[in-house]
Amino acid sequence: MHISFDNTYARLPDTFFAPIEPTPVSSPVMIRLNRDLATELGIDAAQLDSPEGLAVLSGNQRPDGSEPLAMAYSGHQFGGFSPQLGDGRAILLGEVIGKDGIRYDIQLKGSGPTPFSRRGDGRSALGPVLREFIVSEAMAALGVPTTRALAAVASGDKVFREGAVPGGVFTRVAQSHIRIGTFQWFAARQDHDNLKVLADYVIARHYPEAQQEENPYCALLDKVIEQQAGLVAHWMQLGFIHGVMNTDNMTVSGETIDFGPCAFMDVYHPAKRFSSIDREGRYAFSNQGPIALWNLTRFAETLLPLLNDDLEKAVAEAEAALDRFSGIHQSSLQNRFAAKIGIEECSTSDWNLVETLLAAMADGEADFTLVFRHLSDALESGDDQTVTRLFNRPETIATWLKAWRGRLHDVDRSEALALMRRSNPVFIPRNHRIEEAIKAGNEGDFAPFHRLNEVLQHPFTSQPEHAEYELAPAPDEVVQATFCGT
Ligand code: AMP
Ligand code: MG
Repeated sequence: MHISFDNTYARLPDTFFAPIEPTPVSSPVMIRLNRDLATELGIDAAQLDSPEGLAVLSGNQRPDGSEPLAMAYSGHQFGGFSPQLGDGRAILLGEVIGKDGIRYDIQLKGSGPTPFSRRGDGRSALGPVLREFIVSEAMAALGVPTTRALAAVASGDKVFREGAVPGGVFTRVAQSHIRIGTFQWFAARQDHDNLKVLADYVIARHYPEAQQEENPYCALLDKVIEQQAGLVAHWMQLGFIHGVMNTDNMTVSGETIDFGPCAFMDVYHPAKRFSSIDREGRYAFSNQGPIALWNLTRFAETLLPLLNDDLEKAVAEAEAALDRFSGIHQSSLQNRFAAKIGIEECSTSDWNLVETLLAAMADGEADFTLVFRHLSDALESGDDQTVTRLFNRPETIATWLKAWRGRLHDVDRSEALALMRRSNPVFIPRNHRIEEAIKAGNEGDFAPFHRLNEVLQHPFTSQPEHAEYELAPAPDEVVQATFCGT
């Protein structure tokens, strides 16, 4: 099995990671291989699809050039700091340069214990493997920066969660797995030398343009803030709730990571949350912007020793950078939501229009994705019935529709429609469909999993033969809670 590894993380000082071999599994079976992604990574998809490839993707065989390791990191989980997290069930095989010239990590998840496993078994249940495959690939197809799914493998072993369940190994691809928590690892240990090594590494790998700035570390902070502010707005445009925005689950590259308890909303509500452990709604839909800023504040704190030798000046620099978050996030959010109703640049009155619609949706218990999709249809056909039917109280939306049509009066209709069509997906990975795929998968039937993945590869394209995947859940199909994917 040939993969052209070029491992830079393994060259970093040994406090950054622990070398560790994956632990073999008993009888691996390939469930799904992302051949397109393999090709983009310059890996021969046919080879990866062979028994040898399967041995690599299940952790049973170390490919040439791989220097497997578990990365060290800390993190704030639900606001409380854990100095010692790290890859407890993930092992970085190595890095490759993709055809796009970008360096990518290839990581196994569920491949056995590491020195960071604490009391965990280092394994993954098959359910979360399938979930991450579906959602991360759907996010990529939706255009959201995200880690990717290269492969899902059934291990043939049982793992013990709430009872015995089938195990799996997931292969994750990311521009890097460096998190805010990675910076916190060194900050918590007051290891300023290695903090600088890490910051320089991140700048070289993700933000090389920062090297030209007067203060590259200020530039790094600015870039990460900008990426995260935009990323969270992008999530929200699609009704996505990450669900576990701990600082160890926020990459510095700006890619979405960790699909444990995430969910796309069906019915819109700003306070919507799914994660069974997020009792106070810390990571609820409309709290995601403020929480991203909270996390970025923790990031800025780690950088203080690098920002300036004078602590007071460093704090001032950090505060100035953090103050820019809200402006970037809000304008991105406003433009993304305005686009959903066919408006290119969001003025104050346009934002009022959006907010009135969202309030009517929350009040009328309307399905987030269907409302915007049917608004496009309404603009095209002039018929408001399908959209109106989505609201419990149709009169609230009638007034809004009139105001909206008035706003679009002078706008080129085909342009508005094109903007709406590319801002409003037809298909999202609905929770009940994910659960359906997982349930069948746990019983050995992967057909629903494959079908769902295929539909979601073209989320903005109407696929009449798969129209049932557009539908909101029936009352008895509604998923009320999600659980962390351990
Ligand atoms: P997560 O909830 O996925 O963000 O994980 C938080 C921390 O728990 C990370 O350090 C993980 O590596 C660790 N962890 C989660 N599940 C397991 C497991 N089954 N075995 C060992 N460590 C785990
Ligand atoms: Mg995590």
